[in-house]
Amino acid sequence: MKKIAILRCMNVSNRCTGSGCLKAWNGRDRAFSGYAEEDQLISFFHCNGCDCDPATDEGMQKKLNRLQKNGITVVHTGDCTVRDKESGLRCPKINEIVQLLQERGIETVHGTHHK
Ligand code: SF4
Repeated sequence: MKKIAILRCMNVSNRCTGSGCLKAWNGRDRAFSGYAEEDQLISFFHCNGCDCDPATDEGMQKKLNRLQKNGITVVHTGDCTVRDKESGLRCPKINEIVQLLQERGIETVHGTHHK
């Protein structure tokens, strides 16, 4: 069984209910089409903002530790983490978090419900 988390943008979370991501997950649609019924969405978390240094931020370290402790195998980055829709360039803070996740052996996949 795979354990999944979704990482999204803190700024966007001020105005987003997350229903696009969750609808895609529940229907095993779009970026989630390869998952089995038994796979579980365990976590839905956000970055700690544009001023945060993910590598040293205490709160982010706690989140990463918790994800690892909970056996998360794959983290999907939300479509809201793309800054430039034309080029597909992701927010640099999100890229740093992705790097930290990968260093902990957690697979990362870009995208949720736009794919
Ligand atoms: S760091 Fe990036 S993902 Fe996080 S709130 Fe700022 S723009 Fe959004």
